[in-house]
Amino acid sequence: MNKPLTITEASCADDYDPNSMPVEKARKFIHSFLSPVTGVARVPIRSALGRVLAEDILSPVDVPGHTNSAMDGWALRCDDLAADAGAALTEVGSSFAGVPYGKAVGKGECVRIFTGGVVPEGCDAVVMQEKAQVVANSNGKSITFAPGVKKNQNVRFAGEDLKAGAVALAKGRTVRPAELGLIASLGIGEVGVYRPLRVVFFSTGDELVSIGNPLGEGQIYDSNRYTLHGMLARMGCEVIDMGVIRDDPALLEKAFRDASEIGDVVITSGGVSVGEADFVKSLLAKLGEVVFWKIAMKPGRPLAYGKVGKAHFFGLPGNPVSVMVTFYQFVRDALLILQGVTPLPTQPLLKAVCTSPIKKAPGRTEFQRGILYLEDGVFKVRVTGEQGSGILKSMSDANCFIMLHDHVGNVDAGATVDVQILEGVV
Ligand code: AMP
Ligand code: MG
Repeated sequence: MNKPLTITEASCADDYDPNSMPVEKARKFIHSFLSPVTGVARVPIRSALGRVLAEDILSPVDVPGHTNSAMDGWALRCDDLAADAGAALTEVGSSFAGVPYGKAVGKGECVRIFTGGVVPEGCDAVVMQEKAQVVANSNGKSITFAPGVKKNQNVRFAGEDLKAGAVALAKGRTVRPAELGLIASLGIGEVGVYRPLRVVFFSTGDELVSIGNPLGEGQIYDSNRYTLHGMLARMGCEVIDMGVIRDDPALLEKAFRDASEIGDVVITSGGVSVGEADFVKSLLAKLGEVVFWKIAMKPGRPLAYGKVGKAHFFGLPGNPVSVMVTFYQFVRDALLILQGVTPLPTQPLLKAVCTSPIKKAPGRTEFQRGILYLEDGVFKVRVTGEQGSGILKSMSDANCFIMLHDHVGNVDAGATVDVQILEGVV
């Protein structure tokens, strides 16, 4: 169950900067309020790609379904071979994948077998064809085997991968191509998945103009709604874009009310920095319960999290790079939890040699945009150039974040740093 927010819990009075919340602490705080959506849909398996399983998938059958050969060769009875000498056995038939021999194999006999073919009753090993010699004689075919054949060699046993009734895939697994194949291999055509998360977002700011309208003096095009759209759509969310909302209390109140009625999650960008936060704060205090943090990170210092009505709310900073950094550091994992993903995948950190010096103050986590590359077998990383939190080009050029932890100070060229890979994760 979600517990009610208590702002005192979010206080950071025990931290070195009383107004600054460490990244990890904010993340844990947010996670304590999240539980998966409850709606479940049954869908044909192809439609389950990218969705999250809402039920355990139990294997209705043994996998493999029958004891079969891992090789092309001959199936035989080990007892027919002396331990120290080979033997010549009579080939009595064949077993192809899907066309079994169908009878028991007797003493002194062997069966030609192909990969996937059922190992006939009585046989307990398969010898690969390269290790046997065929001698044709008047009685048909005699096959000569060298000594040293081991019991069960090249035999795949029924139920060895999965026993009937065992959990093939646990609830909470994201369905990727491998899972699709595994579910299909069990003969299952439909699965229960969580319904997609409904995420509503809007931008705030009097300076923002939507594409298709001319820019007036001091105005800029709204880009945050597009990065948000991209990040959310890639996560399989149902995305509802409410456009730009002016910095006007009445308009904002209506937007928050509408958004929280339709969304599981409401995300805004802009309006949470010092100076702007005050009227947003009193508005959100009226509509729900929201904490406003200064996070000990760069970029992305201001961040708001809480509940507006029944919806989870993330108030991201307005700067375009900050929006993306805070999304990846806080919102992404939160959405995965709400989508029902368990266990939560850990974001891999890679060690790389930083080729450029970086100025950094200890006491906060910094996320520099980087380009990770391999040189002479060593992972190296360089910054993408200007790192201003408004410079989206630095995000576009990047394939990773260089993550400089709280305790780290200036980084010399040649130092080893932690890198969060963006490719394949987002
Ligand atoms: P704010 O957090 O509202 O103070 O905004 C911080 C900076 O980000 C300002 O320079 C804004 O103009 C800019 N900004 C805010 N929202 C957007 C947006 N949706 N698209 C592009 N830039 C934005
Ligand atoms: Mg603003």
